[in-house]
Formats: sequence, structure tokens, C-alpha cells
Amino acid sequence: MATTGFSFEVLPPLKGTGTSSLFKTIDTLKEFNPQSINITTHRSEFVYTEQDDGSFLRSSVRRRPGTVAVASAIMQKYDINVVPHIVVSGMTKEELEYNLLDLQFLGLSELLVLRGDKAKEDAKFKAIKNGYKYATELISQINDFNSGYFIDGSPIKSPGAPFRYGVACYPEKHEEAPNPEFDIEVLKRKQDMGAQWAITQLFYDNEKFFAFEEKARRAGVTIPIIPGIKPMAKLSQLSVLPKTFHLDLPEALANEAIKCKTDDEVKQLGIEWGVQQCRELMAHGVPRIHFYTVSAVDSIRQIASQIY
Ligand code: FAD
Repeated sequence: MATTGFSFEVLPPLKGTGTSSLFKTIDTLKEFNPQSINITTHRSEFVYTEQDDGSFLRSSVRRRPGTVAVASAIMQKYDINVVPHIVVSGMTKEELEYNLLDLQFLGLSELLVLRGDKAKEDAKFKAIKNGYKYATELISQINDFNSGYFIDGSPIKSPGAPFRYGVACYPEKHEEAPNPEFDIEVLKRKQDMGAQWAITQLFYDNEKFFAFEEKARRAGVTIPIIPGIKPMAKLSQLSVLPKTFHLDLPEALANEAIKCKTDDEVKQLGIEWGVQQCRELMAHGVPRIHFYTVSAVDSIRQIASQIY
């Protein structure tokens, strides 16, 4: 009987598409007894519309409903722990505070605390006015909230249950970190501030994960490090995954993927690689495997049915 936990991440469905695809994902994967379902959070995007006078009007567009609403929809239908992501990106300190209050009202007590992705139109991450630059700044705010204080320093009359939270980490280094050691220092700082677990960026090479974990342990990181896995499922991912997630595909996987002629062949390869990767991680003793579901729900079902 497997003792390694199972969890997965869903994106809020695109605006206007309803809840059916979200619920279908959960229905497909719930038989594997998920410890939690993470819900991602995405900043608003800006679109520029040309006006009659040739100028451009900048307006903010949200493509997905809010994480709080999605968490609520899942909680009403399933008896599964939900873990919303809370991101600094595009949010003011006040908005983050209201976000925490909403999540507390919903009875949620676990979060994944992140900086979030940069705005699409920016070359690099920029803090907005009255916002933050790093995830650690939001961790400080959550710690104050947990201790019963709003951001203006005034006491919370009736503080609710404190939030427990996890953070992100990067076996192949975050793209902006000057070196792997710096990135691990940041993880250690987050642990010292109160983070109770870390979930990794997706990776395909277990050796990179093992080396990262060893370095992190040597640097004093003791919290659980949970590997994040996304089965390859499309030909285009051969170049998209390294570019988007700043990772290397191991030679053995890339060589086989190059031989594939269709997405179906890549999907089959991704399942076989995923099973082998997860079995090795389980033998290594990871506490849980966290799956990224975008374009991969059926592959995850097939992997999970072989390993759990
Ligand atoms: P940070 O910890 O703030 O680090 C960002 C960079 O700054 C790193 O290079 C770090 O080394 C450096 N740094 C940190 N602190 C300092 C400091 N004090 N001084 C100098 N440099 C510093 N994105 C979303 O938009 N929504 C999501 O829901 C989402 N979910 C994710 C889930 C997981 C498990 C993972 C791994 C990533 C997720 N992301 C998500 C992507 C994530 O937001 C990006 O990778 C982002 O660029 C970094 O987030 P972070 O929390 O690691 O940032």
C-alpha cells in the first residue's frame, strides 16, 4: 500500500466556460484520494484598444474568475481540502488583506504563498504601487495577520484561525536567481518565517531534484519538499516546457520525444516517463507527489492508477 500522498493543481476555468471542465478534472482524479487540490491565482491582464483619435486605451481584463469563488465551488461539491494560491503580482497590500479575510470567511486555513508571474506586457516582474516585490513580503503580512494585526497596525477584533502556508521552490533554479545557492537561501528564509512545506516547479530529471533536495537540507531546510510533476502530452512541449519553466529535459526523454510523430505518441511516452519518475521519487521517500493538470488530466489518471 503506497504511503506517498497525492495532490493536484487546477486553474480557475476561463471566464464564461462554467464549472464543468473543473469538476470533470476533479471527478477523474478524486478516486486517488487527493490530500488537497491547489487552485492557482492569476493577475489581471491589460489590453490596449485603439481609439478613433489613434491613441490607445489601456484596460484591465480578468480572464478567469477569482480563486475564492473557485475554492467555494469545489468545497460545496467535494469533501476535499482546497489550498488556494495567493500571489503578490498585480495586488496591493489592501487587496491582499481582503483576500485573506475572504479566505478566512470561507473557513480555509492553508495557502500557497507566491510572488506570481510578471504581467504579460512587462519584460520583468514589477511591483505595483502599494504592492510587493517578493513572496517573503507577503509572508510577513500573513504572519502579522495571523498574530492579529491588519497592515495599518490596528488590531483585528476577532482574529480567526491562523493560516498555515507553503511556498514554491525550484530544483533547476528560479530564472531570476543569480545562482542556485541564493535560491536555496530564499527558501530557507521562507521556512524561518513560517512556511511549512515547499512544492517544486515541475521537472523531468529526478537527479536534479535529488541534488537540489540534498543542497537544501545541507543549508538547513527541513520542511517537506514536495515534487511537482507534469506529464508531457504534446509534441510542442519539447520546446515550450524548457522555455516556459526554465528546465532541461533529460537526454533520454528528449531523444524519445523527438522520435514521436503525433501528440498521442508523446502522451504515451509522457505516461511511461511519469510512472518511472514517480516510482523512483516514491522509493526515495518523498511525502507526496503534486501533479500539474493542465493538458494532462488523463495522463495523470493513468499514472496514478499504476503508482497508487
Ligand atoms: P519569490 O520567492 O519572491 O522569488 C522570486 C525571485 O526573487 C527568485 O529568483 C528569488 O531567488 C528572488 N528573491 C526572493 N526574495 C528576494 C530578496 N529578498 N532579494 C532579492 N531576490 C529575492 N504563478 C502565478 O502567477 N500563479 C500561481 O498560482 C502560481 N502557482 C505556482 C505554484 C508552484 C508550485 C510554483 C513552483 C510556481 C507557481 N507560480 C504561480 C509561478 C511563480 O509565481 C513564479 O515562479 C514566480 O516567478 C516566483 O514566485 P516565488 O513565490 O518563488 O517568488
